[in-house]
Amino acid sequence: MIKVAKFGGSSLADEIQFEKVKQILNEEEERKFVVVSACGKAREDEHKVTDLLYLCAAHLHYGVSAESLFQPIEEKYYRIKEKLGLSIDLKKEFEEIRNSFSKDIDTDYLVSRGEYLTAKLLADHIGGTFVDAKDVICFGYDGQVDMEKSRNAFLALAKSDQKIVIPGFYGALPNGRIRVMTRGGSDITGAIIANLVDADIYENWTDVSGIYVADPRIIKDSLSCKRLTYRELRGMSYMGANVLHDDAIFPVKEKNIPINIRNTNDPKHPGTMIMNDCSEPDEKDPPRIITGIAGKEGYTIITLVKNHSSTAVGFLRELLSVFEEYKISVESVPNTVDTYSIIVSSKAVSSDLYNILHQIQNRIQPDEMKVDEDVALIAVVGRRMQALPGISGSLLSEFGRNMVNIKVISQSADELSIVVGVANKDFKKAIGCIYDRFVLAQEESV
Ligand code: ASP
Repeated sequence: MIKVAKFGGSSLADEIQFEKVKQILNEEEERKFVVVSACGKAREDEHKVTDLLYLCAAHLHYGVSAESLFQPIEEKYYRIKEKLGLSIDLKKEFEEIRNSFSKDIDTDYLVSRGEYLTAKLLADHIGGTFVDAKDVICFGYDGQVDMEKSRNAFLALAKSDQKIVIPGFYGALPNGRIRVMTRGGSDITGAIIANLVDADIYENWTDVSGIYVADPRIIKDSLSCKRLTYRELRGMSYMGANVLHDDAIFPVKEKNIPINIRNTNDPKHPGTMIMNDCSEPDEKDPPRIITGIAGKEGYTIITLVKNHSSTAVGFLRELLSVFEEYKISVESVPNTVDTYSIIVSSKAVSSDLYNILHQIQNRIQPDEMKVDEDVALIAVVGRRMQALPGISGSLLSEFGRNMVNIKVISQSADELSIVVGVANKDFKKAIGCIYDRFVLAQEESV
C-alpha cells in the first residue's frame, strides 16, 4: 500500500504543526511520499508565506525595498528550525534567495521558495529525503505537466528508503526555469505524485475534517460528507466549495486513486473519501440524498427572445460566438421556446458587457433583451438524486415555501446536480432552506 500525503499551509504553520505532521507520518509507513505547501499563518495577524513572497516580488520589481516583508519570512523559518532543533543551513538558503533580489527578479522563482524551504525543514524534521520539485515536475512550454517525463524523472530520483518530501506548487520548464502553478497548486502536485507512483490513496491533510455539505460560513456546524464521487466534488468545487484545488482531481481520477481529505488537527477523524465510484460502499451505507450544496454570488444573466429562433439552425452557435470572441466562459444557457438566458460571471463580463450587448443586438437582432446583474447560482449536488422521482419538485417547493424566487433552473440529463439562480439577497436563505429540509431533516429522521 502506497500513500501520498499532502499537507496544506495551515498544517505547517509553526513548530507545533510540524510536530503533528511528523506524528501523522510516523504512524504509517505507507505514508511514503509527502508533498507540502508553504507555511501558512499560525495566528490571525500573520500572513501566509506565499502572500508575502508575492508582495516581495512586486516591491522588488518597482525598486522598493522588500525588507519589511522578507524579514518575517526569515524569522518564521528560523524559529521553526530552532524550536525543532534542526540542522538545515538556513543562512545559506536565505543568502541564495537574497542574491536574486533585483528589479528583474523572477517572481515564480521567488514565490516557489515558500514550498521549497518548508519541504527542506520537514525533510530534516522527519529524517526524510528532500526531492526538489524543479527536478521532477516537468512542464512543457504549453504550461502543461509532461507526465511521462515527470514519471521518469521522479522514479529515478525518489529511490530512498526514507520518506520522500517534495515541495508542492511548482516545477520547471524544459529550460530549467521554475514555473509555479495557480494558487493552491500544491494539491495538484500531490495528485501528480499520486499518479506517478500509482498510489493506493492520496491523502490531503488540511484544517477541516473533510468536505462540508454546505459552506460553514453560511451553515454554522454544517455536517461533512463521508464520501463523494470525483464528479460530485467537481460540481461542488466549481461552484465555490474550495477545500481542494479544482485541477487536483484530474491526475488521480485518471488512475482511479481515491482522495481522502483529512484534518491535521483531528487525525482520528476519517474525513471525506472521494472516489470514482461510490456504489459499493453506498450499498452498505446509503448516502444522503443531497451530497452538497455549493454556490456563488456575482453572476449576470442576459436573456433574449428571438421569434422562431428555436427552429433556426445555428442560432445558438451564432449567439454564443459573441461570448467566445470576448473570451468569456458561459456558465449555462437555460432556454425555452425562442428564449435564451445566458449566464456568465459578472466579473468576467464587467468591462465588455455593453460591447457584448451591442454585438448581440447587431448580429442577432433579438425581439427583446434584458440584463439581470444580481444573480447567485446554487448547485445542489447528489448522486442519489439520479432516478429518484420528486427531488426537483420538493426542491422547488421548498424555495416557494421560503419565498425564494427562482430566476433560472437547469439540470443536465445525468441528474447529478440541479443549478438554480436566485437574487444575491436570497443566496444564504436559499442554501439554508435546502440544508434544513434535505440534510438536517434526513439526519434527524435516521
Ligand atoms: N503556497 C501556495 C499558495 O498559497 C500554494 C499552495 O499552498 O498550495 O497558493
